[in-house]
Amino acid sequence: MEPLLSLKGKTALIFGVANDRSIAWGIAQELHRAGCTVGFSYAGEALGKRVAPLAQSINSTFVEPCDVADDAQIERLFGQWKEKFGSLDILIHAVAFADRNDLKDFFYTTNRQGFHLAMDISVYSLVAMARCAVPLMEGRNGSILTLSYYGAEKVVKRYNIMGVAKSALEASMRYLASDLGPMGIRVNAISAGPIKTLAASGIGEFRSMLKHHEKSSPLRRNVSQEEVGKSALYLCSDLASAVTGEVVHVDCGYNIMSTPPPNEPEGE
Ligand code: NAD
Repeated sequence: MEPLLSLKGKTALIFGVANDRSIAWGIAQELHRAGCTVGFSYAGEALGKRVAPLAQSINSTFVEPCDVADDAQIERLFGQWKEKFGSLDILIHAVAFADRNDLKDFFYTTNRQGFHLAMDISVYSLVAMARCAVPLMEGRNGSILTLSYYGAEKVVKRYNIMGVAKSALEASMRYLASDLGPMGIRVNAISAGPIKTLAASGIGEFRSMLKHHEKSSPLRRNVSQEEVGKSALYLCSDLASAVTGEVVHVDCGYNIMSTPPPNEPEGE
């Protein structure tokens, strides 16, 4: 009998690798280590050059572009996947985008276009992908996983429209979990602590956010891509066979604290 954590014979399609610091890359490596066959979709040609060698390093043979703002491209991508693999077990949605100008100062200055852009790419894309994944996951106990952040629950300064988008993403995840549960498909989210990635570099004063999390988290440190990857592996494996509709915090415990620890000197 295979161990519960083995993903041998399973396939995973991963959206959101931009480079080797991407959270999605941390997830890809863990899924690969568990024996899963992993394929990638990336945003555009410039990123393709970065993603291709990463994919090759874990023997991936599926590396295709797709702008998730375009339904036709999403449908084409899933069509290509179907042609190559016939079915899908795991879908990783690690995609988000907002105008840099909307990730500083205030939320109330967000214009309609910026609001729509963030919601479209960071939230609706999950619904569009899930719709395409369903027929490929039929009878396979599929698992869909998305990435969120604490700014969905509480106001995090400068996270602004992305916090609103993450709230909508978490709600969408729950509605999808309810719709797809009867088909045996589980849908979950990881709420990750801050990690220095390309997307994070667009958030105003991200470095002070990292310091604050490090100082305030019960574990007194920040989380790594690898740790998010390991939790993703759990959620996508049979170990989590009864877990769906959940937001799992992988943030060194930051979310349980009401205020930073009192009277602690910097760096402790
Ligand atoms: P990242 O920049 O490595 O990944 C973001 C990905 O989104 C990139 O690969 C980018 O190409 C992709 N993307 C953006 N617009 C796209 C489009 N139109 N079509 C296709 N792909 C598009 O950064 P990351 O931090 O690894 O982000 C992954 C996920 O994790 C995001 O949802 C992010 O909000 C979430 N997250 C990040 C942190 C953090 O601190 N880094 C914390 C919690 C959650």
